[in-house]
Amino acid sequence: MTYVFEPPVQASVAVLDSEGRFPVRRIFCVGRNYAGHVREMGNDPKSEPPIFFTKPADAVVESGADIAYATNTANLHYEVELVLAIGAGGADIAESDAAQHVWGYAVGVDLTRRDRQAEAKKGGAPWDTAKAFDQSAPISAITRTPPAADARIWLAVNGDTKQDARLGDMIWSVPEIIAHLSRSWMLQPGDLIFTGTPAGVGPIVAGDVVTCGVNGLPELSFKIAPQ
Ligand code: MN
Repeated sequence: MTYVFEPPVQASVAVLDSEGRFPVRRIFCVGRNYAGHVREMGNDPKSEPPIFFTKPADAVVESGADIAYATNTANLHYEVELVLAIGAGGADIAESDAAQHVWGYAVGVDLTRRDRQAEAKKGGAPWDTAKAFDQSAPISAITRTPPAADARIWLAVNGDTKQDARLGDMIWSVPEIIAHLSRSWMLQPGDLIFTGTPAGVGPIVAGDVVTCGVNGLPELSFKIAPQ
């Protein structure tokens, strides 16, 4: 069997203390998943099921990279997120079995064209243009060691802290996310799951340096290339 042209290079992510790389199959993302203020207001943040969207596998960018300011936006936003790297697939995964499907953990940023997302929300249109663009998924190296259940998750722009929360603030926990997601897709080895971002999202501009982390996991840093 031959291809009519050279197939694309397999997208992959570095693995901490290993020369082996994690091959990326798909990238799933959870919509809004931190809402301490919703609970404070006495509302039930679980009254609606979790929202999922996707990015292409080759949207991943290595830590330390310069990332071009995205085209077709004047409001590029950061969103720091815990990322799950799936190593064992399955459908209809029970919450009690979910941890067995996770190969490793990383920190990622769900880069977002916020202006395009606002238009999509207003028009009831899909989010692909807002979320699924080239270089929209910078990600740290993957480690096999899980973070503490209530680990700090944070992001800074040029050294100024912008996001600072706890994994325990997530509306949908890791097992709940995997259980829900695997009802709509058969999860496969190589899938990444971005688990949603806490409060404090905001814009970045050319020349900005973003650093972020989840305590216990390798840090992620990248620069928005000067124009
Ligand atoms: Mn997000």
